Amino acid sequence: MNYRKMSLSVILVCLLAAVVMTGCGKAGSTKPDNSGVIGSNVNPSNDGENKGAAEEEPKEGTGQDAEHNGTQEPGEGSSTVDKAAAADPDSVAVLVNKELALPEDYEPSDLVYPDVRFIFKEKIEKRMMRSEAAKALEEMFAGAEADGVYLAGVSAYRSHSTQRSLFNRYVERDGEEKAKTYSAVPGHSEHETGLAIDVSGSDGKCAAEDCFGGTKEAEWLAQQSAEYGFIIRYPEGKESITGYKYEPWHLRYVGKEIAADIFARDITLEEYYDAVPVSGTP
Ligand SMILES: [Zn+2]
Repeated sequence: MNYRKMSLSVILVCLLAAVVMTGCGKAGSTKPDNSGVIGSNVNPSNDGENKGAAEEEPKEGTGQDAEHNGTQEPGEGSSTVDKAAAADPDSVAVLVNKELALPEDYEPSDLVYPDVRFIFKEKIEKRMMRSEAAKALEEMFAGAEADGVYLAGVSAYRSHSTQRSLFNRYVERDGEEKAKTYSAVPGHSEHETGLAIDVSGSDGKCAAEDCFGGTKEAEWLAQQSAEYGFIIRYPEGKESITGYKYEPWHLRYVGKEIAADIFARDITLEEYYDAVPVSGTP
């Protein structure tokens, strides 16, 4: 009996020990596995994908995007970004910023005078835009008027030599370092592409000035310009990416497809191309 009792208790102890050990063993071996593999390797990329989809889908659905009828568009959009266009000066999707310059001798071959109101009468260089952008601008100004918003062009195309003399004048006045904070180095101005235009209200008040922000015209442009293929190129709060302070008046033509994508995702042209952010300070 004693032996039996003893052997029974030994068996019980062994069983208990085995249960405890395997229990501890399981807890001990699975937890590190979780944090080592699933936690660090799998979750972050899942998060990234989910976030992207989550950010795009609600906006696609709620953003009154009648043109957006495909459900695959978010995926397609990100996979069909034509990065070569960013470096092609003749593409309407070219990326020009403080890091990326146009070729020294670049001159758009299809500049025309858009048939819209400007705050000046003369038929001069800064009234010109590339033909595709000019046509879109005419449509945009007409669309604004239909909504009771009267726009005017302030300054569109600027040749390389104009930008150079403008910049040199600023350098003489304020020094190069300061000039660079508000004026583009020659070759780096979007106005040299023939695809950018500064816009104001028809009275010309606050033309290319901070006080244009918050006006009826600025609000209309912020909400409606993408429909016509334009983007607010230097949005508020994106200085560290674009290298420029908020310029509610500076519109850039990129074509309807890219403009709609940039508007829906609330991003900049730099982010669209996954380009390296441009530092806000020169
Ligand atoms: Zn501008």
